[in-house]
Amino acid sequence: MLKSKISVRVAMVITVSIWMTVSLIAFQNCGADLKAIQGAENISSQEGEISNSYVEEFYEVNDFEEVNSDFEVENSIVSSAASKSCRKSDLKFRLPLNGAQGLRWTINNFVDLAGRKNQLRDYRGKTGRNAKTYDNHAGIDFDVPNFRAMQRNYAIVAAAPGVVERIKENQFDKNTNCNRKIWNAVLIRHNNGFTSTYGHLKKNSVPVKVGQRVKAGQKIGVVGSSGCSYHPHLHFEVRDCANRVVDPMQSNMFRTKPNYNSPLRLMDLALKAGPFKSYVALQKPPLNNTKSILLAQKLGIGLYVSGSKAQDLYRVRFINPDGRPAFKHEVRLSKDFDLSLWRFDAKFGRRGLWTVQIFLNNKKVRTAKVRVR
Ligand SMILES: [Zn+2]
Repeated sequence: MLKSKISVRVAMVITVSIWMTVSLIAFQNCGADLKAIQGAENISSQEGEISNSYVEEFYEVNDFEEVNSDFEVENSIVSSAASKSCRKSDLKFRLPLNGAQGLRWTINNFVDLAGRKNQLRDYRGKTGRNAKTYDNHAGIDFDVPNFRAMQRNYAIVAAAPGVVERIKENQFDKNTNCNRKIWNAVLIRHNNGFTSTYGHLKKNSVPVKVGQRVKAGQKIGVVGSSGCSYHPHLHFEVRDCANRVVDPMQSNMFRTKPNYNSPLRLMDLALKAGPFKSYVALQKPPLNNTKSILLAQKLGIGLYVSGSKAQDLYRVRFINPDGRPAFKHEVRLSKDFDLSLWRFDAKFGRRGLWTVQIFLNNKKVRTAKVRVR
């Protein structure tokens, strides 16, 4: 049984009218400890071509949790792994997700090594609020940008060879709270006797069977948000032969070790007709971006950014159908975020093919076209 503690930090910035008055509101979510965040210091807009008001908002996806129980297995066996040495050095992992850190996935939380309730320490020795973990967290949380990743079937792969010992996959998988406790998960017994568990999987996404031998890198499921989960992510947990938690970061068990801090990257850009009205809406963008909107509609814009640092500058710039910069929204951060979700919206003053450009620290990272009809 793993204890859970939830902390979701939220801040909202609202600007209305072309002259942009700015107010900052921080509010508490889910009864968790919240620190007011001043997110935006500089927001600007130009030119009267837009009759727009917009709302801009950001959320830090920080602490999730987590598990459940000891699994509520549908299917399980106890495998006799071939050569049980029970030595850490006999087990090396590849990453349980494909793709690059900061683009496909980012890490929000590592294992809590403090060993005491209400104390935090991660493998880098950071403690208290500086630790990238939460109380009694027994695994590593690999976050994906949003629920599109689940719709697009981001694969979870076996981190090392072994035998599948347990599978649970019949649970609802779009949770953004802790109301449901049972997750979908796969447990693999490795040849040295250790286990790895892959939790919060998409419903009915497990292509392997209990008792099956799997190779490192073999697909065993899809990232989801089943169980007690505030955001789609993979919880990856390692245990030794005595079922004690092992931190694969502290023990250098990854062949390619993930970075403690993700690089600054735009993980995803979401565009939809109409604004993103809530945080959950932002987490669940349409599978594909809209390519056109009506003149009367607003364009909803969602940014999913990993590895932000205080003083980083985000800019959304709009180029009008004549090819001229028409207006921009800018946000300068006042703190660090491992993963943050942002929403903007814009209402255009005329028809034609508009261009949306996204800049992170003055570097253009994404361009999209939207036809206003
Ligand atoms: Zn976790």
